[in-house]
Amino acid sequence: MTELRWTEPNDATPFLPERPTLSSLREAAAGCRGCHLWRKATQTVFGEGLKRSRLMLVGEMPGDREDRDGTPFVGPAGRELDKALEAVGIDRKDVYITNVVKHFAFEERGKRRLHRTPKRFEIDACRPWLDSEIELVRPEALVLLGATAGKALLGNKFKLGESRRRPLDSDLAPLVSATAHPSSILRQRDDTSRHAERREFTEDLRWIAKQLGSRKRPKGGSDG
Ligand code: SF4
Repeated sequence: MTELRWTEPNDATPFLPERPTLSSLREAAAGCRGCHLWRKATQTVFGEGLKRSRLMLVGEMPGDREDRDGTPFVGPAGRELDKALEAVGIDRKDVYITNVVKHFAFEERGKRRLHRTPKRFEIDACRPWLDSEIELVRPEALVLLGATAGKALLGNKFKLGESRRRPLDSDLAPLVSATAHPSSILRQRDDTSRHAERREFTEDLRWIAKQLGSRKRPKGGSDG
């Protein structure tokens, strides 16, 4: 008997809702079969935050904990992000937080699921969700967390070291900048380098907070 096998189109576009709002997007993304990543992951981890958010943070993809929880940045890297946001006076509830890829990509080692960097075709397949989120939220500042998010949105020439604490040339938002992914703090080998990485990350967010503070343009609109 021939095995019938669904082949993903490597494009999320067919799964987008006709009338996109943040809630209709979230609902539709839960059933996305745009690429193969849905097969092994627990669930879609869609962006979180209000439509009126002035700041959008874009990471790479959900990790093990996020995959189980269904919420972005709730694992150890998320805790680093929360600490840095608090240190610079940004309330996480005022930030829209999302990832370029919405399903967890991993390799199994025994019982452990090890993160793997998403491939270009997976990033491209998932891009319609992120484009829709940016279009709806229209943040004043969009900050890319790490090299994968930077390359996904600004192209392969993106270099993280040259992109921190400065505006980048992009029409994705009035201010686009980049910082490290908070997981880079956790990957440091010793306390000294961990503290240094944490300090740099926090200073990058402080720079963003200052830029937003000087803009002083409250956003209106609903949160649907
Ligand atoms: S990773 Fe993105 S495109 Fe692929 S199935 Fe998940 S939501 Fe759809």
